[in-house]
Amino acid sequence: MTQPNLRFTPQRKVILEELQQLTSHPTADDLYERVRKRMPKVSLGTIYRNLDILYHQGIIQKLHVAESQMRFDGNPDPHFHVHCIQCGRIADIFNCPDISFVLNEVKSDFTIMDYSLIFHGKCPGCSS
Ligand SMILES: [Zn+2]
Ligand SMILES: [Zn+2]
Repeated sequence: MTQPNLRFTPQRKVILEELQQLTSHPTADDLYERVRKRMPKVSLGTIYRNLDILYHQGIIQKLHVAESQMRFDGNPDPHFHVHCIQCGRIADIFNCPDISFVLNEVKSDFTIMDYSLIFHGKCPGCSS
């Protein structure tokens, strides 16, 4: 991996600000709609490119859920998530047990960028 470039372009700064304001774990499309209100000339490709850079710098998280679109999280600290399989809502679970010992158990030689644990189920609105 190349040395991260922590000089933020104005676009990257706005994308990160918008993402950090949300707790909804938005898709790139959701962020595009919000960033466009502040920077009308921004393209969806720019959003994707900058999210990828922020992810590789360890500033944001990517959540792989069983949906077509990747979800993003402005909180880089390890925490767990609950995902509604019906409406797609993702909520945070904090005060999680530290499960980093699992890595020592498996003796992986990977350099870990982040980890996530996602519970899948139905939110209160969708179970009634
Ligand atoms: Zn739901
Ligand atoms: Zn989260």
